[in-house]
Amino acid sequence: MITPKTLKLSIKSLREFAKKRLPDEELIALDERDECPLETVRQMCSPDKLGIQLLFIPEEYGGFGGGAFDVYCVCEEMARIDLGVATAVLATFLGSDPITVGATPGQKKLWLSRIADEGILFAYGATEPDAGSDLGALQTTADRVMDGDRIVGYRINGSKQWISNGGIADAYTVLANTPGGPSWFVVERGASGFAQGKPENKHGIRLSNTAALSFTDVLVDPDRLIGGVEGQGLLQAQAVFGYTRLMVAAFGLGAGWSALDRAIPYSTKRIQAGAPLSEKQGYTHKLIVPHVVRLEAARAYIEETAERIDSGAEGSLNTEGAIAKYMATEAGNAAAEAGIQALGGYGYTHEYMVEKISRDVRITCIYEGTSEIMEMTISRDRWQLHLKTRGEYYHDRAREMETLHAKHPNVGAGLAAAAMHTLAGVMESARTGRLTRHQHILLRLGEWMAYAECAGALARRAVRIAEGKLPEKANRRFDAASLAAVARIFAREAALRVAQEGSRWVIGAGGKMPPLDFTALYATQADLLADMDSVADALYGRVGQALSPAHQLAHA
Ligand SMILES: Cc1cc2nc3c(=O)[nH]c(=O)nc-3n(C[C@H](O)[C@H](O)[C@H](O)COP(=O)(O)OP(=O)(O)OC[C@H]3O[C@@H](n4cnc5c(N)ncnc54)[C@H](O)[C@@H]3O)c2cc1C
Repeated sequence: MITPKTLKLSIKSLREFAKKRLPDEELIALDERDECPLETVRQMCSPDKLGIQLLFIPEEYGGFGGGAFDVYCVCEEMARIDLGVATAVLATFLGSDPITVGATPGQKKLWLSRIADEGILFAYGATEPDAGSDLGALQTTADRVMDGDRIVGYRINGSKQWISNGGIADAYTVLANTPGGPSWFVVERGASGFAQGKPENKHGIRLSNTAALSFTDVLVDPDRLIGGVEGQGLLQAQAVFGYTRLMVAAFGLGAGWSALDRAIPYSTKRIQAGAPLSEKQGYTHKLIVPHVVRLEAARAYIEETAERIDSGAEGSLNTEGAIAKYMATEAGNAAAEAGIQALGGYGYTHEYMVEKISRDVRITCIYEGTSEIMEMTISRDRWQLHLKTRGEYYHDRAREMETLHAKHPNVGAGLAAAAMHTLAGVMESARTGRLTRHQHILLRLGEWMAYAECAGALARRAVRIAEGKLPEKANRRFDAASLAAVARIFAREAALRVAQEGSRWVIGAGGKMPPLDFTALYATQADLLADMDSVADALYGRVGQALSPAHQLAHA
């Protein structure tokens, strides 16, 4: 495990490296030329230069053995620099994941040591032209090559699509159907019959190389079958989702904040109607504060999940990874879009970067599982828990929040409890009306579950920061009082969203109105504006000198 000091130093080196090698003008030029800066990517992964991939590799194979929390911190930082370059580094990590979870000790030693010592780049080849979200539809095959009754190799045929690092990697993990089922293979660049397509012309992450792969009778040795047993591929892919989706969640977080960190200082200098935009409540409370709040809700969930992974929690935390990814990438995407609006006409030009960030972050809602697949993953799992506990799952979570609220009444835990009780009621209406037979209801439930759970995570985080119990590595952009205000704003949104949208869709699908007290739910919105004012003040460093409503009006 990496110490907080080492992590801090690594992030500092990463920032300095990026400042020198990837200043804004260079990023804009590369984006316009649609070019992957291969040499820079290689230097980032080279053990003699930046060696960022060493953080991800276990110590026994020459790396630093970073945990999920370290990886989240580094991924957020990389995304703040450039999501295309971050994707290139991530691809090596994703590509080596089937090895990390499923390979034999010999295979691990060979490939992970090569990543650590030589800085080789990997690509992760799962998606195919007809197999995207549904990898079960995989058509690439790996047929056994026999010598008598002994397997002496595999012959791979088929194609892969949208593969990050596809055109530049040194080695590829490739998912293919064997007689025993889907399995991962390592294929090296240069293998006979293996060809890489030209880079795709993409909407965003244009600094990332994305290419198709084709395999025509590509012969590999049997020891290239990861784990040495056929049919483990989908299980191996599933086993790392909690972890890998957390990385993409951190990308959404980093990119979203990167846009806001450009919009916030811009708004202090841009004078319109006699005052800086930062002093206009209609500006900050639409274009800045709500995005900050949603990003920080996602951060709370990411950090909790990372801590659980690092403490050896049972299971793959697949659902938690999905919640983190869904919330952070949707929030990152919305924040970047608001970033363009916040800069007005300047935001719409290349020079001010927010439009590039907005194009780049869009991919995070698509790769490593689309937002809709995340909604489905979340909903299916929590629905089972609802049934198993006879409808008590979210009531139980709500009761935990009520206990927290009794001790810490200012962190929004009571509001989070309201969101969770409401969700339990909506789910029960969906059960009695058998509404999850409608896929739309199932997926919408996934969204409300994610909101309710993030409200809980953010309330807990606000308590931990107040009690000085946040891990040393955790992000500390807000002090305890401001984070409590952030938590209250988000929990209000979660409670109302679940109630309004939940009853809308339950009734819309022919179910019975859930038992909700809307008067009480609307009452939870009291002080919303005051909390938003205080978050805006914290963001603009004017804590303790909040602008009076009269001042606001004067500058409207
Ligand atoms: C730039 C880029 C880089 C990528 N890098 C990699 C990589 O390195 N390795 C790799 O293997 N793949 C990679 N991908 C592929 C990526 O993971 C897939 O694009 C993604 O999983 C979605 O698959 P798809 O494109 O086939 O869309 P589809 O699965 O066809 O989905 C299309 C739409 O339908 C929705 N949808 C799909 N199934 C359902 C359903 N059952 N119910 C309701 N809605 C549904 C989706 O949410 C989406 O909105 C990359 C893609 C891009 C664009």
